Amino acid sequence: MAIQADARTSADERRAHKATLAALLLLERRALVFLRHVVDPTRARIPVDPLEAAKVLGARIADATRAIRGAARREGMARLQAEWLAVKRRLEAAGAKPPDRLPAPAAKADLDALHAQRTGNAYEATVLRKTADAMGMNEGPSVAHIVRQAESTLTSIATTEVSSAFSDERAKAMALTVATYKAAEWVPMLHQVWDATLDQRTCSRCSALDGAIRPWGGDFPGGAVPGQVHPRCRCQAMPFVVHVAKRLVA
Ligand SMILES: [Zn+2]
Repeated sequence: MAIQADARTSADERRAHKATLAALLLLERRALVFLRHVVDPTRARIPVDPLEAAKVLGARIADATRAIRGAARREGMARLQAEWLAVKRRLEAAGAKPPDRLPAPAAKADLDALHAQRTGNAYEATVLRKTADAMGMNEGPSVAHIVRQAESTLTSIATTEVSSAFSDERAKAMALTVATYKAAEWVPMLHQVWDATLDQRTCSRCSALDGAIRPWGGDFPGGAVPGQVHPRCRCQAMPFVVHVAKRLVA
């Protein structure tokens, strides 16, 4: 293969990269605030019966999850379009004529509905389990109290869902670009690099994947998907341009 990785990144690319990670963190924080609001027992009436309360909260979390995933998709695509400007400049410098904008994937609500349902059910189960635990300790089944203590669960939902949908939309757009411009000479230059350096508690699996480079639309080692390795995974695939020395011959 006549492809050689060009390790240099331009100032434009570094800026786009930083902005993407900042956008992701901001989105996660917003999602957390939104989730706190939808389960806040002081603002919303929660039934006294724990079973009923868990159901109501589960449904609210499911609705919120759908909204969060939709926002994360839009933001993920918007960031990729911004990153494309830097990528496009590098392709043009190599003599290619890429389009101004990337094709956007068609809306896919089914997958988000599925995630939302699963997240809502899991939250319902969490509330029920914690209520049962509280009853076992003779503290009484105070749902409001349990919800107030649900901070880590809400943080986990915000991080997991935002990262997963953000990453999913970007992966789809990359695959769609490759499919749309299959014959273009610049397509083999489009690569993505796994970025796992969002915090210092990165797990060993994600750290091992950090820096892995694959073509757009290609699979990462072991079929791992950035942002979906485990709950709270904040890995993302960033665009990366490699220098193509010669046209590839299959
Ligand atoms: Zn990860």
